[in-house]
Amino acid sequence: KSFKELGLQRDILDAIEQLNFSEPTPIQAQSLPHSLQGRDIIGIAQTGSGKTAAFAIPILQALWEAQTPYFACILAPTRELAYQIRETFDALGVNMGLRCSTIVGGMDMMEQAKELMRKPHVIVATPGRLMDHLENTKGFSLKALKYLVMDEADRLLDMEFGPVLDKIFNIIPKDRHTYLFSATLTSKVEKLQRASLVDPVKVAV
Ligand code: AMP
Repeated sequence: KSFKELGLQRDILDAIEQLNFSEPTPIQAQSLPHSLQGRDIIGIAQTGSGKTAAFAIPILQALWEAQTPYFACILAPTRELAYQIRETFDALGVNMGLRCSTIVGGMDMMEQAKELMRKPHVIVATPGRLMDHLENTKGFSLKALKYLVMDEADRLLDMEFGPVLDKIFNIIPKDRHTYLFSATLTSKVEKLQRASLVDPVKVAV
């Protein structure tokens, strides 16, 4: 299916066109029909596969219908990856007034707290710093979260973020959509999948 045939909002199709994406990559072609129907996704894909747009597009499509604060949270193992993911969201959300925040370690907590008070729709974060704000930034919570993404889950686990992820699962709504992307499907990733996804569609490229 082409992007058009997937039934995406005009604002998103225009952004896709501006980025010169002519057709979905294999990970997008296999996951979008399911993610756009509301299914959880486990995607086994490398960087370069187009995995970021594979999870950004269904989130933006849902956000288009109901723009609420703290709608989606993307967890990434490194600051560099968080910034790259944020760029993709900004580019795909350019026509819909998307507010995005990058919340990573090494940056000023107060500045980030101020940014969170502007009620971004999408938060791209490293897990440790996100938890820090959830515990210490008054007025910020993920009680209304609709989408959770764990990107490069194998690396998240290698970096010992497992316990922080468990804490985050405990304070976000059970009634949400979850996408897990990983380059490899290790037993640790499978365990994380069982702890966080409900009846997921598995896609591997
Ligand atoms: P990623 O795997 O998410 O890091 O994406 C790798 C690169 O592929 C990025 O530069 C994207 O802009 C690009 N990309 C993503 N989807 C498409 C597409 N459907 N057509 C062409 N390029 C794409």
